[in-house]
Amino acid sequence: MKRTIKDLKNIQDKRVLLRCDFNVPLDKYGDILDATRITASIPTIKYLNDQNCKLIICSHLGRPKGYDKFLSLFPVAVCLMKYFPNKVKFCPKVVGDEVKRDIAKMKSGDILVLENLRFDPREEENDPTFVKELASYADIYVDDAFGVAHRKHASNYGVALKLPNAIGFLIEKELNVFEEAFKNPKKPFVAIFGGAKVKDKLLLIKNIIGKADTVLIGGGMAYTFLLAEGINIGKSIVDLELVDEAKKILKEARGAGMKVVLPVDHVALKYDRVIKTNNLDADMVGLDIGKKTIKLFAEEIKHAGQIVWNGPLGKYEDKRFKMGTFMVAKAVAKSSAYSIVGGGDSVGAINTLGFANKIDHLSTGGGASMKLMEGKTLPAIEVIDTL
Ligand code: AMP
Repeated sequence: MKRTIKDLKNIQDKRVLLRCDFNVPLDKYGDILDATRITASIPTIKYLNDQNCKLIICSHLGRPKGYDKFLSLFPVAVCLMKYFPNKVKFCPKVVGDEVKRDIAKMKSGDILVLENLRFDPREEENDPTFVKELASYADIYVDDAFGVAHRKHASNYGVALKLPNAIGFLIEKELNVFEEAFKNPKKPFVAIFGGAKVKDKLLLIKNIIGKADTVLIGGGMAYTFLLAEGINIGKSIVDLELVDEAKKILKEARGAGMKVVLPVDHVALKYDRVIKTNNLDADMVGLDIGKKTIKLFAEEIKHAGQIVWNGPLGKYEDKRFKMGTFMVAKAVAKSSAYSIVGGGDSVGAINTLGFANKIDHLSTGGGASMKLMEGKTLPAIEVIDTL
């Protein structure tokens, strides 16, 4: 079991470096469009603040190439000021003398938010000089950045190796939810997979064989499976190199007694015309699941005891092809099953529809939650001490 912040003793007056995932969407004026990622770490920040330590918070935001004023963490610090009045200060630097001076001035109970870690290219390189400087700011390191836990960066991997460490409540919850769901699934366990990156998703399906009762496959990835079944897919997205592997997985899954449901109809483009069809001819590109498939999927979802969903069921960014993803989101929200949704697109669909409060666990990390669904460990968690 990983050490959590509750296991940290005598942290009063200590300097604690907390890595958060405050990678929030901003509009062109720098206003936060969705603060979910900030509010998700509030319990951890509050707990550490209640312990009266000196809390130094760091995070990345977006993918800047060097300094970028539009990706400053200042709006995040302002948001935190509302939760912790008169306690939060923003430091406009990531490393250097200004940071050191600000930390030296901190009193117990103060919170200092550093500027975007990725303004320094050494962050993503896990550069030892950057690690050394970050580690020098604190006595203890706490990781609450689930969204980057599958990455080996300086602030979540390198620093953890240098300081006494623990995970925050957000990461603890994410790990517990996925562990429990795959070890002791509530039955029937229905997995829903969509999206376009077949290679990644094949690993998800492999890992749920023997665990899930039913798998519903939609989105771009479904066409590699349909081709593996000898079904015409027209010009739909496909990974030809993985057709044999898909065939093997289907055989293995069915052999293990798992029900596999593939699309039986599609919303497709024929040149620039949108059509609904059961069969894709050579000129068609399948871009969403059709009504019959939605019905089949909804029926399985309705009777599920547990649902795990990753990936959109169509090219949902285009409103002509969003129906499948949105109807499945609705079915999952309506279902009484224990539901876990991971992956940016599926979580986005749930949020857009205003169903977030109907889902038991909306994961804050797309890539990291995928790795857990694949049954893999996360490097940034591996380096946290065990009890
Ligand atoms: P992934 O990152 O693998 O979950 O893939 C997400 C992407 O898959 C989204 O950008 C969707 O637009 C895309 N997608 C879903 N269904 C299809 C489809 N039938 N054809 C092409 N792209 C799709």
